[in-house]
Amino acid sequence: MTAITNHMPTAELQALDGAHHMHPFTHNAELASKGARIITRAKGVTLTDSEGHEILDAMAGLWCVNIGYGRDELADVAARQMKELPFYNTFFKTSHVPVIALSAKLAELAPGDLNHVFFASSGSEANDTNIRLARTYWAELGKPEKKVIIARKNGYHGSSMGSASLGGMSAMHAQGGLPIADIHHIDQPYWYGEGGDKTPEEFGLERAQALEEAIIELGESRVAAFIAEPVQGAGGVIIPPSTYWPEIQRICDKYEILLIADEVICGFGRTGKWFGSQTFNIRPDIMTIAKGLSSGYLPIGGSMVSDAVAEVMDACEFAHGYTYSGHPVSCAVALENLRIIQEEGIVDKVASETGPYLQQKWRMLADHPLVGEAVMIGMMGSLALTPDKAARAAFASGSGTVGNFCRDNCFDNGLVMRAVGDRMVISPPLVITNPEIDTLVERAWQALDQTHARLKAEGLMRAAS
Ligand SMILES: *Cc1c(COP(=O)(O)O)cnc(C)c1O
Repeated sequence: MTAITNHMPTAELQALDGAHHMHPFTHNAELASKGARIITRAKGVTLTDSEGHEILDAMAGLWCVNIGYGRDELADVAARQMKELPFYNTFFKTSHVPVIALSAKLAELAPGDLNHVFFASSGSEANDTNIRLARTYWAELGKPEKKVIIARKNGYHGSSMGSASLGGMSAMHAQGGLPIADIHHIDQPYWYGEGGDKTPEEFGLERAQALEEAIIELGESRVAAFIAEPVQGAGGVIIPPSTYWPEIQRICDKYEILLIADEVICGFGRTGKWFGSQTFNIRPDIMTIAKGLSSGYLPIGGSMVSDAVAEVMDACEFAHGYTYSGHPVSCAVALENLRIIQEEGIVDKVASETGPYLQQKWRMLADHPLVGEAVMIGMMGSLALTPDKAARAAFASGSGTVGNFCRDNCFDNGLVMRAVGDRMVISPPLVITNPEIDTLVERAWQALDQTHARLKAEGLMRAAS
């Protein structure tokens, strides 16, 4: 068997990819007929493909490459750790230096008394941990009937059976028999799409109060926890109205249900503070982390747990764990990533320099005839595409058609922007510079122009009735 190198012609790589590689969230036959774009290198915020095209990655991979690509320090730490101790487990009364150091560092960085970490290799695994953890917590307190976890429609918490059940993506629930039992979904605080004539503040309050209604309807004695992302990411970067989180916090406090903040995207600087919970004044009992924890250089995730929850869990044997919980190489790389974020003041820069600059430029995209709203917090933002700004209307062509046109135009202009239905989202590396931000916004405007021209030519600037 010959080695598969970067020097093979693109068409051959595409043929092998189409023949043997099943891509996630992809219609594989359709992709195979066109051929995947093959990324060969990356540095800073820029990807290079097998044809030598340079592409500005405004998605930081999948919301994760917070410190940007090509940081040798992380590669060096990984190589050193692999030589010293490539693997050891933490199941049977053993531990190792990287997992100890990372746990202590996370306890220092996390808000409140979230001083304890249970490690996983991904956000999905960590949220599966959270389901078992929340239910076991209540069982240990003598309330085994408190099992229901309330989550939100159009939330995203991962792709495993448990985490996809917490998620509120209907396309995911349609496959494989989801959700699992005792998960209940309430409506999302998506004012632009669902708020009608209400003000954002009225609507935010109403959607938060849906949590209280659900608790009453299900029975307080059955509800274990509420889980939500501080800002919905995969759902389309939906920033909740200012009234939403204070009311959610009040309700969780009143009924003493566990509040799980899924910080997989919001964590590690994305919203302009270390954690989205700090941006929104949320006091979670459990916090899911992954993605930016290692800037995506190696897989790692985890559940951060408050002192009170840890005290209960520590008094029993939690029959749960993954072979790679606290993997030494992932922990060492995560630790180095956190050192870089901290020592280079990356979170402060997002809060006070580059973040405000990007936000100001991004909001100017709302002047484009195709854009109904342009919103951003920290460095995660979205555009709603619409045929009728005043009515906040959806397209007659159905959700996703126009978004996908725009995404393809972005790619052709050297920009990765993702489409969620007809919302365009970005979440660039947090190290993006002001000149790179200028390029990002110029290319986005150009892609919007091209999309607009195509819609007019094809008669698709029409609102759904
Ligand atoms: C990506 C994501 C997850 C799942 O993480 P994986 O590492 O893909 O399993 C969970 N929650 C949120 C908010 C995410 O964005």
